[in-house]
Amino acid sequence: MTYCGRCGRDLADGGHEDCARALALEPPRYCGTCRRRMVVQVHPMGWSARCSVHGEVTAD
Ligand SMILES: [Zn+2]
Ligand SMILES: [Zn+2]
Repeated sequence: MTYCGRCGRDLADGGHEDCARALALEPPRYCGTCRRRMVVQVHPMGWSARCSVHGEVTAD
């Protein structure tokens, strides 16, 4: 992971504590590898987020 899934900034910039907390509850908006906006679908059982390049990320 290079980019923050919530705010899309470089993780090396720091200050993502709030993002990490939020991502425990909600799907990421940005791909952690390429920073593209992901297509997020929320299901009754959780969510899935899809990057057009890197494919699907699902909640565990
Ligand atoms: Zn962040
Ligand atoms: Zn990607």
